[in-house]
Amino acid sequence: MEYVIIGNGVAGIHAAEAIRRQDPAGPITLVGDETFLPYCRPMISMVLEGAVPMERLPIRGADYYEKLGITPVLGRRVTSIDVDARRVHLPGHPAGIPFDRLLIASGADPRPIKADGLDLEGIFYMRTEAQVRAMLETLPSVKNALVLGGGLVGFKAAYGLVRRGVRVTQLIRSDYPLSMQVDRTAGEMILAELVRKGLDVRVGVAATGFFGRGRVEGARLSDGSELGCDMVVIGKGVLPALSFVPRDRIDIDLGILVDAHMETCVPGIYAAGDAAEFFDIARKTRWVNAIWPEAVIQGRTAGMNMAGRPVALQGSLSRNVIRIFDMDIMTGGWVDPPDSEGFQVVRRIDRRSGAYRKLVLDGDRLVGAVMVNHIEQGGLLIALIQRQAPLRMSGEKLISTGFNYRQLLN
Ligand SMILES: Cc1cc2nc3c(=O)[nH]c(=O)nc-3n(C[C@H](O)[C@H](O)[C@H](O)COP(=O)(O)OP(=O)(O)OC[C@H]3O[C@@H](n4cnc5c(N)ncnc54)[C@H](O)[C@@H]3O)c2cc1C
Repeated sequence: MEYVIIGNGVAGIHAAEAIRRQDPAGPITLVGDETFLPYCRPMISMVLEGAVPMERLPIRGADYYEKLGITPVLGRRVTSIDVDARRVHLPGHPAGIPFDRLLIASGADPRPIKADGLDLEGIFYMRTEAQVRAMLETLPSVKNALVLGGGLVGFKAAYGLVRRGVRVTQLIRSDYPLSMQVDRTAGEMILAELVRKGLDVRVGVAATGFFGRGRVEGARLSDGSELGCDMVVIGKGVLPALSFVPRDRIDIDLGILVDAHMETCVPGIYAAGDAAEFFDIARKTRWVNAIWPEAVIQGRTAGMNMAGRPVALQGSLSRNVIRIFDMDIMTGGWVDPPDSEGFQVVRRIDRRSGAYRKLVLDGDRLVGAVMVNHIEQGGLLIALIQRQAPLRMSGEKLISTGFNYRQLLN
């Protein structure tokens, strides 16, 4: 059995390891366009901040590929997949690389923005170690940075730059931060706290263009104003990286549609991680949950199935613990369903301590939770959403068979 894996991110390497455990001899080729050792992508913001040196990023050693008997093809991008001939095509391999089982674990690319002047120097996306390396080289000459986006990556970039002594202005197109992760109440609390801390956060504004002589010197904003800056970081979310995937053969919505075995509609071709769209436990529909723990488990599951051990995943779940300028935020599941869905929503705010909790119940199942500060019980709430165990609210208690989760709202 010949295996090919596209993408040497965390989903790809977990798949390779799972295959090797089942099949000690089958040839595995891993194609990845990054040449760095497999690394912890979420930690690149800590490198920007100066909290972690670049050398601490790798999650596997220099002998990784050799030890596992993997043929790495690095620094190359797959350009197409021939589903009928069962080959992947990429520069330098005129006949393509044949496969019996293929995994698409190409992750995601930063969502591009529409604006003039994007080719100026000093404008960055923050997805790879190489991009952070380039940002660090520019930093000594940077005084004022503009961060676009109020999601996880935008905040991580803003925090890292502030810690480096750079003055940061953050533009958020929606009217509260983390709008994909939290509800309006939590978002407004986070915004108020950031403003109180002196961060220049502007909501409801976007950049329409950039100007400068060779290097960025400023941005034009949607409210008609201009803002001087010598660095821009674009963190406006991600999209699955699927330009090479034949859409007429492999079903794609936002991501590649997979079943519980991570298999696509084409037998023998699998997808996992940020590139895949899988059943979401909380939303009860398919969804792209582009987070690290999902990439790990989906990659591992795909690998086992590729090597002939049938394993099914129940579903995926969005979840995150986020620390923004001393605020702890935990979110899981579907945190802000429309009122029309008829879910029961229970909230508690303590303005004095800055703590907020919200639980979303679909009948007797917990489907979403947001916590701002005092997030100690977050892991328990995530487990309850994952297990979809029957629960009920009794006053302030969340009750499940045999358990009495007191104070979940305190
Ligand atoms: C700054 C930052 C902070 C983050 N913080 C968190 C966090 O706090 N918590 C969390 O859960 N998640 C976080 N994430 C998300 C997390 O990193 C991703 O969910 C995870 O890395 C996805 O793994 P993956 O293997 O699916 O894709 P990736 O890690 O993107 O790996 C895919 C690999 O495939 C390569 N590739 C793409 N196309 C091709 C091609 N055509 N040919 C060959 N190779 C290709 C890519 O270059 C990449 O190396 C963060 C991400 C970033 C950027």
